[in-house]
Amino acid sequence: MLRALLEAIVMLLVIRAAWKVLGSVITIASGPRRTTATGQPLAVKLVRDPVCGTFVSPDSAVSVKTRRGTEYFCSDECRDKWTHEHAR
Ligand SMILES: [Zn+2]
Repeated sequence: MLRALLEAIVMLLVIRAAWKVLGSVITIASGPRRTTATGQPLAVKLVRDPVCGTFVSPDSAVSVKTRRGTEYFCSDECRDKWTHEHAR
């Protein structure tokens, strides 16, 4: 009787431990994205204008899609200068 109760408690603890491990694995798997999305709302990622070196926010920057990715510029002038230089 007592032994059955102990076994039940041990079983419960094992299940809880396993559930905890499973939960932390799920947290790790889904954690990073959630942290960057909501964890640092004030941290604005800046990109460098390759023409004049000014740091700009991708949201407000002038962007050009290239084969290597997207380039960001502080103004149309810089973008035109860059696209002219890289047109060849
Ligand atoms: Zn610029």
